[in-house]
Amino acid sequence: MADCVFCKIIAGEIPSNIRYQNDKIIAFPDIHPLAPVHILIVPKQHIATLAELSEKESLLIGEMAQVANQLAKSEGISEKGYRVVINCGKQGGQGVYHLHMHLLGGRQLSSALG
Ligand code: AMP
Ligand code: ZN
Repeated sequence: MADCVFCKIIAGEIPSNIRYQNDKIIAFPDIHPLAPVHILIVPKQHIATLAELSEKESLLIGEMAQVANQLAKSEGISEKGYRVVINCGKQGGQGVYHLHMHLLGGRQLSSALG
């Protein structure tokens, strides 16, 4: 997708410190980390928002969660705990319109979500 920053990272047009990838999913650090560990888990297919995920594609979310769990272990935050977040649409706080899951951890996160 032209002009999509995550598609450019996936295509290797923007360099990134890739932490994980398989044929469907890639993970790299957030450029503006909100916690000591802040990694984005991104499907390689351009899907703009969670709301646009089709039933056929819905297993992807489970695979992204598995990658988050795996990265939480390799980043050493698995036992203390972490958060995964998907922002959807304008009022959901989404800034990049290519589906992604945030993995946040390495400090005590606030219980406030909104
Ligand atoms: P969201 O607000 O859920 O759409 O999150 C988008 C995230 O992408 C933000 O936390 C940004 O800091 C992050 N971001 C934007 N551009 C880049 C980039 N080139 N590399 C890594 N993370 C990025
Ligand atoms: Zn994209």
